[in-house]
Amino acid sequence: MAEAHHTDVCIIGAGPVGLFAVFECGMLKMRCHVVDALDMTGGQCAALYPEKPIYDIPGYPVIDAAELIGKLEHQAAPFHPVYHLGRRVAQLAPNAEGWRLALDDGSEIEARAVVVAAGVGAFGPNKPPLPGIEAYEGKGVFYLVKRREAFRGKRIVIAGGGDSAVDWAISLAEVAAAVYMVHRRPKFRAAPESVARLEALAKAGKIEMVVPYQLAGLAGEAKGLSAVRVATLDGDERRIDADVLLPFFGLAMNLGPIGDWGLELEKHHIKVAPSTCATNLPGVFAIGDIATYPGKLKLILCGFSEAAMAAHAIYPLVHPGEALHFEYSTTKGVPAG
Ligand SMILES: Cc1cc2nc3c(=O)[nH]c(=O)nc-3n(C[C@H](O)[C@H](O)[C@H](O)COP(=O)(O)OP(=O)(O)OC[C@H]3O[C@@H](n4cnc5c(N)ncnc54)[C@H](O)[C@@H]3O)c2cc1C
Repeated sequence: MAEAHHTDVCIIGAGPVGLFAVFECGMLKMRCHVVDALDMTGGQCAALYPEKPIYDIPGYPVIDAAELIGKLEHQAAPFHPVYHLGRRVAQLAPNAEGWRLALDDGSEIEARAVVVAAGVGAFGPNKPPLPGIEAYEGKGVFYLVKRREAFRGKRIVIAGGGDSAVDWAISLAEVAAAVYMVHRRPKFRAAPESVARLEALAKAGKIEMVVPYQLAGLAGEAKGLSAVRVATLDGDERRIDADVLLPFFGLAMNLGPIGDWGLELEKHHIKVAPSTCATNLPGVFAIGDIATYPGKLKLILCGFSEAAMAAHAIYPLVHPGEALHFEYSTTKGVPAG
């Protein structure tokens, strides 16, 4: 029989904002279950840029994304959140108590309130249309870099012209045996200072620019990749001996099932009331990158503040009739979860 869980608040998304919502709800004596389609916590921070330093988290002049996630989990831990990782919320429907969430593994969670902290939705990389690429995924083709060290001594082809492609080319040039930068045109869509560093490294012979080329094919055996074929629009082909291909063509943003739940949307984001993060569905709140309102900034620190506002707005739903007296954490400490 499918598992069924009951909780005060169900949080969809274990990104930085979803994790902080566990803390904020916990401080107001509300238990949380957290569901994430990824098999790890951390959302974009963990999946896209774990080793990158973040400079705009208050109180931390610099902190690596993975370290921030570790600290957020630690901060949430006293409230014993129940994580359902590697599972996607497929359906959301009202019931007598609040909401019933159906997960794609058949299990269900009943909650008084729901916090949608689903970032850009269930995100995935835009994949280049290369025949047979699936066979190399996870062996020689990676859409994200979890640990730079894993690429030490490798011959790496990076494809793309945006920030991820440029930043990783610069970073991996320090550890790789060779870095080839494949882009279809000489202009890059990255921060000008990063592009300047890329060009300096190319001049110094640390990165080879393969421009104007596009990916054309892959070669290798069952155990991994051995070469990447590239071609110009005029049909000039070149074969680059390589162990790794990193295609950085951005993220496919796909709200997935969230788009079917009756939430009021604006350009793939959920419209919320700015002071409570309430959506048009009673008892359903949205925070972090997925939430929109006039003046919204897609920053982690704004998501943290939205988590606090949503938790306060949810309190009367979980504790009806109990007055909520605003208190600082310095006054009440961290209540037992
Ligand atoms: C390269 C890069 C650098 C950045 N640098 C900074 C920076 O310096 N400072 C800053 O403030 N911000 C930065 N950001 C933005 C920051 O990462 C986001 O604002 C932040 O991750 C948003 O957090 P979130 O918790 O709202 O969503 P996310 O981190 O996107 O997490 C959402 C989670 O929800 C899950 N999910 C979605 N749909 C479902 C579903 N149906 N069922 C289950 N799970 C679901 C996803 O799998 C995901 O794990 C950067 C982003 C990128 C890509």
